[in-house]
Amino acid sequence: MARCSVCGRPAVYVDRAGGVAFCEKHFLEYFDRKVRRTIRRFRLFRPRERIVVAVSGGKDSLALLHYLVRLSRRVPGWEVKALLVDEGIKGYREYTIKRFERVAGELGVEYRIVRFRDELGYTLDEIVRLGAERGLPYKPCTYCGVFRRYLMNKAAREMGATVVATGHNLDDIVQTYLMNVLGNDWEKVARLGPVSGPASHPRFVRKVKPFYEVLEKETTLYAVLHGLYDGFEECPYAPLGERWEIRRLINRLEEQRPGTKYSLLRSLLNALEILRRAGVAGDGEVRSCAICGEPSAHPVCRACLLRIELGILELSEEQLEKLPREAREMVLHALRLREKRRRRASGGAASPADRGRGDSGGAG
Ligand code: SF4
Repeated sequence: MARCSVCGRPAVYVDRAGGVAFCEKHFLEYFDRKVRRTIRRFRLFRPRERIVVAVSGGKDSLALLHYLVRLSRRVPGWEVKALLVDEGIKGYREYTIKRFERVAGELGVEYRIVRFRDELGYTLDEIVRLGAERGLPYKPCTYCGVFRRYLMNKAAREMGATVVATGHNLDDIVQTYLMNVLGNDWEKVARLGPVSGPASHPRFVRKVKPFYEVLEKETTLYAVLHGLYDGFEECPYAPLGERWEIRRLINRLEEQRPGTKYSLLRSLLNALEILRRAGVAGDGEVRSCAICGEPSAHPVCRACLLRIELGILELSEEQLEKLPREAREMVLHALRLREKRRRRASGGAASPADRGRGDSGGAG
């Protein structure tokens, strides 16, 4: 049996890469040191913050909520609330919501739940079905990632947040890094820092990742030790996403060569510095979507375009005419694509070119 490297008691955690092991007490101290170092190193928070923790009800986000609520009790000027976006994934999300409500109640934290059904008119399950019927080439994680980010920013702003903290851990970050490297998408890589977002846009709430340098097995253990994690559910769409394979690949490499995940993170931090010096800005130019007014890298945001492609957002002739030229062209292009796919879906399968378009969804 492994023994704690500090006190010699039975270990609950073994770090093969670092050659250390910890008992429960010393693991929690190690975890706390690690997260505080990330917060300091990347200046994630300011002295006065209204922090909204984006929670899914999974282990990482519950661990983050628990950690930040406790930390905020020692930091005057910080206020922590929680926000859960319910996509409407039957047989999955209802269980994580129940767990979230229990933990939020125990912590006495104020929270809000926003639902795809209320905000978009459809659940994710319905959107996925609709997309398939219309011959759209996107995977469920694409719809989920785009709409979740859109609603999270909007709802957090309405809650008065100055910053949104997300539970992405080191494993999530290096998976996304590798996915974007394989896709040769360096603009997306440039967005993978611990702080993201065009802080200059009045409607954008800054996003931070306090678990940026913390391994998934560490956030899991933190959640288990605090009784936050009493069951395991996997999103039924997860195996369909590109992330699924990348995750298995990185875990296999870590098994064979302990320290692989840390190496990938160091590689990412170096890449971010090189990209910054080369002027590749992750946030790029930020404008307001001509349809909904939310922050967007393009004249029309991805959420509005997807809704148009899905046929759940219709613009009248008059609304279309009023759009600036570039935005109108984007919408007309989306409408043409929609019509083309509708015809193809009623007459046969999507073309290989359509099927090949990437999946840009986030970690579940
Ligand atoms: Fe959404 Fe994650 Fe499920 Fe994909 S795996 S559909 S991103 S919850």
